[in-house]
Amino acid sequence: MSTEGFDYEAAIVVVGGGACGLMAAYQAGRRGLDVVLLEKDSRLGCNAEIASGSIPAAPTAHQRRAGVTDSAEQMMGDILRKSGNQADPDIVRALCERSPELIRIFEDELGVAMELNTDAGRYGFSALRLHNGPGRTGAPLIQALRSALAGMGNVTCADRTPGAGLITDGSGAVMGVRAGMRGEQRLGAQRVILACDGFGSNAEMIARYIPEMRGVQSIGVQGNTGDAIRWGMELGAAVAHMSGYQGHGLVCAGYGTRLVPEIPQLGAIIVNRQGERFAREDQGYSEFAREVLAQDGQTAVAIFDQRMVDVVARLDHWKDTVASGAVKSAQSLQELAAAFKLPPEALERSFAQCCGDLPDPFGRARLPAPAEAPFHGAVITGAMVHTQGGLVVDVHARVLRPDGSAIPNLYAGGGSAAGLSGDRPEGYLSGNGLLSAYGLGLIAGEHAAASLLARSH
Ligand SMILES: Cc1cc2nc3c(=O)[nH]c(=O)nc-3n(C[C@H](O)[C@H](O)[C@H](O)COP(=O)(O)OP(=O)(O)OC[C@H]3O[C@@H](n4cnc5c(N)ncnc54)[C@H](O)[C@@H]3O)c2cc1C
Repeated sequence: MSTEGFDYEAAIVVVGGGACGLMAAYQAGRRGLDVVLLEKDSRLGCNAEIASGSIPAAPTAHQRRAGVTDSAEQMMGDILRKSGNQADPDIVRALCERSPELIRIFEDELGVAMELNTDAGRYGFSALRLHNGPGRTGAPLIQALRSALAGMGNVTCADRTPGAGLITDGSGAVMGVRAGMRGEQRLGAQRVILACDGFGSNAEMIARYIPEMRGVQSIGVQGNTGDAIRWGMELGAAVAHMSGYQGHGLVCAGYGTRLVPEIPQLGAIIVNRQGERFAREDQGYSEFAREVLAQDGQTAVAIFDQRMVDVVARLDHWKDTVASGAVKSAQSLQELAAAFKLPPEALERSFAQCCGDLPDPFGRARLPAPAEAPFHGAVITGAMVHTQGGLVVDVHARVLRPDGSAIPNLYAGGGSAAGLSGDRPEGYLSGNGLLSAYGLGLIAGEHAAASLLARSH
């Protein structure tokens, strides 16, 4: 393809303005490089904005203050174990080692008040290590990055300007990006960073790569249609873990919201329409999606009490769930059973099953005390959150071919790159999404910038 006739040229073009793209643009921008960031649809936002914004990191000052002993090595072990040892250990190590820096950047450089989530542990975590911004939503993190970029004269954020494809020279080296609704603009770039997330909102790709989730609701943003992964594949890039995804088994059916993951960890029980438990409730919420979808009507009812609600009541995300009307309350189990049309005797049996001396039939740890009135409940279902398969990258986030060689000038991160969770939803450990997105964004922006600065000196 011709390298002439560019409408605009920049040192670095970043495609996608979510966690990975904004972080990459910030890293390159603060090193003085001329950056253009293309975002398909800033109105609908990115997954990182509607996310809970939980970033795993170890070791951090927050952990030290809370008396939590942890290390990058320990974090790496948890991620690899949960992925069934399918995740690339070199990438996992690189991301775990840089993870404390992510928290520091948000705190010290971007002015976001971060906190360590000490409300409840997470399945698969050997230590408390999820860090969040205010209200435990992703929006303050994204807004802080966007404001920082707005203050950089060398960074142009082109909103509502989708990337439409890559421009290469005769040897296959990337030279720029086609952009605009019809791909009518040609942007020349010395480095291109793909940060368009995965294909969670592309029904055709879901049917092809993750048939078990065909037709299942996606709670991610509509703009993530696998563009970067397709462009990379067209250039001969390797892909991995294309059947991997993060599901969510705590989505409030019909309400467009979800229960916070702490609720089952704090002791909620979850029953099917027959009032019976069907799985351990405190397993990862990603794999729990499949368990719920296998029940009658593809729904279940989560039941919890006021003590559990008190722990999460201050969170914006929880307040939104309550405001949506998804949570119903009752003064007795019988009343709650009637509200959700559940057989009361079966519900009582299910409650009794969670406490006492007998081993739990689903392997959950015994609850220290039975739930107490007032009771609360919500009808939940399973959903697709985001895909985990994508372009294979090296520890510098450079996109690789199947023979291990890098495609010149091309980087990828976040959901556009192969994830940390392997081929199955149970491989997803809470926080894998943002660790890979902010982490590979940091690495890609830094490496792309350093490679250009080295050349100019
Ligand atoms: C409800 C929800 C909760 C979550 N909670 C967490 C959590 O607490 N912790 C965690 O680790 N992960 C969480 N995740 C996952 C996490 O949000 C994603 O893994 C992460 O946002 C991926 O980052 P990204 O930069 O790759 O994609 P995104 O943040 O989704 O950004 C991609 C951007 O690219 C844009 N784009 C797409 N195609 C193009 C194109 N052709 N041209 C230009 N722009 C394009 C999109 O419009 C979007 O703005 C959650 C996800 C959801 C949906």
